[in-house]
Amino acid sequence: MRAAVEISRAGLNCAVVSKVHPVRSHSVAAQGGINAALKETDSWENHMMDTVKGSDYLGDQDAIEVLTREAPADIMELEGMGAIFSRDDRGKIAQRPFGGAGYPRTCYLADRTGHGLIHVMYEQLMKYGVYLYDEWSVVEIVTGGNSVRGIIALELTTGKLHRLRSKAVIVATGGYGRLFNTTTNALSSTGDGMSLALRQGAPLMDMEFVQFHPTTLKRTGILMTEGARGEGGYLINSSGERFMKRYAPKTLELASRDVISRAEQTEIDGGRGVDGCVLLDLRHLGADRINERLPQIRELSINFAGVDPVAEPIPVKPGVHYSMGGIATDIDGKTPVEGLFAAGECACISVHGANRLGGNSLLETIVFGRRAGVAATGFSLENKLLDFPDGALPGASGEIARILNRTRGEPVYPILKEARDAMERHCWVFRGREGLTAGLKKIRELRERYKKVCVTDRSDSFNTELLTVIEAGYMLELSEVMLISALNREESRGSHFRADFPERNDKDWLRHALVYRKDGGYDIKYRDVKIVRFKPEQRKY
Ligand SMILES: Cc1cc2nc3c(=O)[nH]c(=O)nc-3n(C[C@H](O)[C@H](O)[C@H](O)COP(=O)(O)OP(=O)(O)OC[C@H]3O[C@@H](n4cnc5c(N)ncnc54)[C@H](O)[C@@H]3O)c2cc1C
Repeated sequence: MRAAVEISRAGLNCAVVSKVHPVRSHSVAAQGGINAALKETDSWENHMMDTVKGSDYLGDQDAIEVLTREAPADIMELEGMGAIFSRDDRGKIAQRPFGGAGYPRTCYLADRTGHGLIHVMYEQLMKYGVYLYDEWSVVEIVTGGNSVRGIIALELTTGKLHRLRSKAVIVATGGYGRLFNTTTNALSSTGDGMSLALRQGAPLMDMEFVQFHPTTLKRTGILMTEGARGEGGYLINSSGERFMKRYAPKTLELASRDVISRAEQTEIDGGRGVDGCVLLDLRHLGADRINERLPQIRELSINFAGVDPVAEPIPVKPGVHYSMGGIATDIDGKTPVEGLFAAGECACISVHGANRLGGNSLLETIVFGRRAGVAATGFSLENKLLDFPDGALPGASGEIARILNRTRGEPVYPILKEARDAMERHCWVFRGREGLTAGLKKIRELRERYKKVCVTDRSDSFNTELLTVIEAGYMLELSEVMLISALNREESRGSHFRADFPERNDKDWLRHALVYRKDGGYDIKYRDVKIVRFKPEQRKY
């Protein structure tokens, strides 16, 4: 949406195609806030240093510099557009502490930051007259040679396939949390754009790095924002001990997410958990502060766990939260495919490296959404509209007809369940060669079974079973890519912890791994990390 605003401001025609209504995009669920060094006592250099350290030195420092330098102006622009940020005592934009940050620099709208910002962006789409194709699911990015020609999308209300011809395409399809059972991500976070871009020759980078958030609610995996710890919440184990003092003595509950998730999993595996969880204690904050700063957390906890945080600690555990890996781009969102850009969670620029800091992702969508919009505008002004290959639409409709017409085969749901179970068992907080190899074997078997999947619903309108089949194709592919990448990286860095290679190894692994599709399989190439200001050091919290 941020990219679309930029393109429309330049006077070009632009369409946003989304498989859910834009304000139901997953960003609406973002709770805790968005980072920027706004105060005189803070600086973008500090923000940059925290982000580089948080990334376990895998983040590209040129990109992180852009993110942190441009953040303050983007926040002020959002405010100008109508974002109602919470205020401090002086009436300035309030900022709360967040994990891995050396300064309270997370701006927020109570604990509903994403909700507020996404409506502001949607208003901007209305203002600039951007064309909207809601509930249209893209099933193919169309290229010819190495150039983008447009997309093919399935209109979910009618079941019709449409071609949209364009000079440029920006993929902004979010993350792939739904590869796992326990996730904070929406049902729509199935990684579509990453798989679609990979099929057209764009590489996926650093796919082994998936963020586990330390405070997801028991059973449902609903997020309990880091803002809850930012406001002073503690983590305790079954004996009431604030166990983080043994893992991150300086920063305790505000260490980075990978560090806290591993600490929690160690407590749980060591028998010091409570029913497979640890406890997030907010009681000492008092009802007034909880109601003012964390109203949604209280509501979610009461409704989904039957626990009122004013009176009882909340049962939480690590859950899949964010996709650090994604479509490899430069700092303007460009991919190696001419006219194909990517921004937001589906992209890997890489500003988060091996571990994202909370509050940097909403920021990434705004800063790099804007920049991708500028770059796509420039590209469109310089290039002609190219032909749409004749065979593309019949090819896509043939593929869908094959699924709908298949009469013998198995349903998709058990395949997805087995895939998610395998990912959760073998590609979790702690990983090792044996488990990853078993996971890969399982996913490859499931991909074979998937080829014969069949549906019971053959209707045209809102055929969610068909949509699930299509999405499962993306998810199975991304699961395989993630397992290959995790097996390949024989070191521990950020969120990727190999129990058989427990140390970080800068000599061999201070580099990005890029996966390409090749001859029906996958090929891995490497790229150096861009180190501009901060030399890699041991990461301690
Ligand atoms: C519960 C939760 C809380 C979070 N809180 C914070 C926070 O406080 N601060 C922070 O910085 N980050 C936070 N994050 C992370 C952050 O919210 C996300 O990384 C970010 O919002 C992703 O935005 P996006 O625009 O890239 O993708 P999304 O908001 O996921 O949007 C993706 C869009 O792509 C569309 N789409 C996907 N596939 C297709 C397809 N095939 N065809 C057509 N359209 C498609 C979807 O319909 C949707 O519109 C949080 C994440 C979660 C899960």
